Amino acid sequence: MTSKKILIAGAAGFLGSHLTDALLGKGHAVLGVDNLATGNLANLAHLADEPRFTFLNQDITQPFDPGPVDYVFNFASPASPIDYARLGPETLLVGSAGTINMLNIARKYKAGFLHASTSECYGDPEVHPQVETYWGRVNPIGPRSVYDEAKRFSEAAVTAWNRYYDVDTHLVRIFNTYGPRLQANDGRVISNFMMQALAGEPLTIYGNGQQTRSFCYVSDLIEGIIRLAHTDEHTPVNIGNPSEFTMLECAQEVLAITGSKSKIIHHPLPEDDPTRRRPDITKARALLNWEPRVPLREGLERSLAYFQACLAARSK
Ligand code: UDP
Repeated sequence: MTSKKILIAGAAGFLGSHLTDALLGKGHAVLGVDNLATGNLANLAHLADEPRFTFLNQDITQPFDPGPVDYVFNFASPASPIDYARLGPETLLVGSAGTINMLNIARKYKAGFLHASTSECYGDPEVHPQVETYWGRVNPIGPRSVYDEAKRFSEAAVTAWNRYYDVDTHLVRIFNTYGPRLQANDGRVISNFMMQALAGEPLTIYGNGQQTRSFCYVSDLIEGIIRLAHTDEHTPVNIGNPSEFTMLECAQEVLAITGSKSKIIHHPLPEDDPTRRRPDITKARALLNWEPRVPLREGLERSLAYFQACLAARSK
């Protein structure tokens, strides 16, 4: 493929920075945009001498003109439950005004567009596993609503810019993803358990630990997203790993790979915490000829050195 100029909003985040690396690796030029609300420049530090990478510190809720681009990836948003609880209004704004600003850039420059949507669009689902045609069960005013409804509004906006303005849009519904550069202190289950296990602290299971999630290793997710970007599919596509774990099983996996003797303790279950989540990836398999390859245990092993380094940095 010829070299393209690609704009990635949220480039300093966990997924944005891995997407940046993957697209640079394919020979493209990347303009990374981030206001660092939850992103971290350390995720891009290794690109300091990369001439095909440029960074712009910019809040995408404010209109800006990056000049001609061939493709826009919109990955800008707080994404962990504690981050979007802290940044509620900002999360609603980035998922509404921010998404529309990015769509207008794609429209102006006739660029492709891919938006990072989420399994949270399904809320606490009655349909299991979750298929793209399921409309979801979301509490519009609960603590997760700032994230869920912003992402659902974004899906409506992305679809409208395709339907009314013929922008070449794509929507990926991302399920729980982990790997190096996941913020060590973002309160998510994998980062919490890894850091707790390595520090010899108790692993905090919320509720009885029978709620489930299905964890995708970051390289599998990025591969699926790049494949989706090359298709003509405008409706949402689930990308995730369908192997489903209870949080108790997840804790056991973390203890096994860290060799930790940490105990398990229980904390109250947060309000509106989805009881189960597992992607039906039939559509992604057929459309993208894609399949996640890294099982949870191997992905945790690949993430171990990163979390060890985070712990060492924290104890300094
Ligand atoms: N969780 C947990 N202990 C923790 C952090 C999270 O048991 O220290 C649970 C949480 O209640 C949820 C699941 O792990 O059921 C996944 O939470 P996370 O915040 O990683 O992401 P979510 O999928 O809820 O957005």
